Amino acid sequence: MADFAAAREKMVERQIAARGIHDERVLAAMRAVPREAFVPEHLAEFAYEDAPLPIEADQTISQPYIVALMLEAAELEGSDKVLEVGSGSGYAAAVLAQVVDEVIAIERHLELATLAGERMERLGYENVSIYEGDGTRGFPEEAPFDAVIVSASGSHVPDVLLQQLEVGGRLVMPVGEPGAVQKLLKITRSSEDEYEQEEMGAVRFVPLIGAHAWTEKGERADPRSLPELIRDAAEPLPDLDDPAFGALFDRFASAKVVLLGEASHGTSEFYRARAAITQRLIEEHGFNIVAVEADWPDAAVIDRYVRDRPEREGEEAAFQRFPTWMWRNTDVQAFIRWTRSRNATVEPERMAGFYGLDLYNLGGSIRAVIDYLDDVDPEAAAVARERYGCLQPFAKNPQGYGRMAITRGYAQCEQPVAQMLRELLQKRMEYVAEDGDEYLDAAANARLVKNAEAYYRVMYHGAAESWNLRDTHMFETLCQLLDAKGPDAKAVVWAHNSHIGNAAHTEMGQVRDELNIGQLCKEKFGEQARLIGFGTHTGTVACATDWDDPMEVKDVRPSLAGSYERMSHDAGVERFLLDMRQGVNEAAVEALMEPRLERFIGVIYRPETERWSHYAQAVLPNQFDGWVWFDETSAVTPLDGGEQPAGEEEMYPFGL
Ligand code: SAM
Repeated sequence: MADFAAAREKMVERQIAARGIHDERVLAAMRAVPREAFVPEHLAEFAYEDAPLPIEADQTISQPYIVALMLEAAELEGSDKVLEVGSGSGYAAAVLAQVVDEVIAIERHLELATLAGERMERLGYENVSIYEGDGTRGFPEEAPFDAVIVSASGSHVPDVLLQQLEVGGRLVMPVGEPGAVQKLLKITRSSEDEYEQEEMGAVRFVPLIGAHAWTEKGERADPRSLPELIRDAAEPLPDLDDPAFGALFDRFASAKVVLLGEASHGTSEFYRARAAITQRLIEEHGFNIVAVEADWPDAAVIDRYVRDRPEREGEEAAFQRFPTWMWRNTDVQAFIRWTRSRNATVEPERMAGFYGLDLYNLGGSIRAVIDYLDDVDPEAAAVARERYGCLQPFAKNPQGYGRMAITRGYAQCEQPVAQMLRELLQKRMEYVAEDGDEYLDAAANARLVKNAEAYYRVMYHGAAESWNLRDTHMFETLCQLLDAKGPDAKAVVWAHNSHIGNAAHTEMGQVRDELNIGQLCKEKFGEQARLIGFGTHTGTVACATDWDDPMEVKDVRPSLAGSYERMSHDAGVERFLLDMRQGVNEAAVEALMEPRLERFIGVIYRPETERWSHYAQAVLPNQFDGWVWFDETSAVTPLDGGEQPAGEEEMYPFGL
């Protein structure tokens, strides 16, 4: 029997160390791994030759020196997590496993992946996992990696692989035509956005075959980059004031619910685009509900204005609480003025109402229920005062209620607020006879109080629980509205992308167990719900640095390399609609299915820590049916300069 140990020692000295590989850990690893166990049995005697050898599935095990060269170039540390693409026999993965903590390896041939997996088990490599698959897509589930080693020659360096590197991480990969001499490249991710490339000499590898490399026939799989695919599929959007703008969205109009997102809570273009689309849906397609991510009692003030219903005595002006600019801005004002004048030309049943889905204005809702009952049922109003009195001490500081419920170990207001809603619902027939709209308003407020009580109570249990309660409340309110308006009702929803993009397909759902209104709508309505996301590359945004801080206008940082936003920017179309419905734009949609970072700016924007505060992994075509892009955007203009209320006339119906 051949003396493999001696042959191995000789291989390391003569083929590897003598050619200039000095990394002691790599040399030690090459001394440790029995290469003969990774080649077909009849070739074992050649295992330590200075050459690649054939293995099963017409592939090769790389020349030992090349394995060592690539591993040394990858500057491995003991604590690293490494991805190998093209694990073949598993030899390089085993050498890696001697040096680093964890190795994930992908092989496109099932036969090879299975054989390599068995070898790892037999030889006791517990820190290697081998998967069958297309490694040109990387392995997003396990990313980021400290190093990526690609053991077959690609047509280019796939952007998705770079994205899966840690900052500081290294990718080593041959690039070049199948069968030709290729270049070995080393790319280091020097920051979120920057990469440095070095050429390490000529090599010859078998081709990398997959979505981001070659086809079996040796052609480039899709010569178009993702930005080019987006560019080819993008439908340029006309001016926001051009009626053709809204008409481009007619394709979504057969749905019962169209949900329009936004990538920040302070970008003018997002509001104006949503207004243009909504106007079209109302005028041409019978949509009669506009339901927004705003508090019910505040939106109710606007609804009275747009449907010309009588004002309620003593009612508070709408949207006076932080973040006021989100609704008290010139774009929203223009939209509600348009809605009012359009409503004035149609029968009451065809008017479009304006409703709030959110649950933060607890005090406003309590007052609205009591005021309503004062009018229709004074005895019930007295009972409501007593029951809601339980929450009164916390009206200004509802979080305090949550704390109290935790310290005392029970929620003293839970029963009374639930009872209040139950009784209101029981008396529905009686109350509706008086005025259906007023009843709907009171019942929605009573439901809000009940859900807000629960929301503040669970806030201390965990973010996911309170987020889910809030989005479930929004969804239920939407369903109640649709029910109340009858079988032909159709709704447009305006809310942040984080509420609208199906959460089942983002970090929200997959990592944090959060659901959202978009997901709940898809589950209930299927294709009768259309989810449309909005994005931007750069510009300005109205926002605050902390909750309750004054509004500021900040610059939006150019989008991060590799993010969906950067891909959209690189498409080079200033503003566009990308239709991602099933069967449409398949090549672009397929390419967009690689998980990427997506930016979420809310009321708060912290550019300094943007990557961590505002980006999350997502799969765009799973989140949305359509993607609306504005390359450069500008902040909304608050009606009262963010602070100083203007004259009465100008402010109506927002009040002073
Ligand atoms: N590192 C391997 C070893 O130590 O045996 C040698 C790998 S061999 C040179 C290249 C391997 O890449 C082949 O087994 C081939 O099937 C695989 N491959 C090619 N394209 C691939 C892809 N898209 N994803 C995963 N593996 C791929």
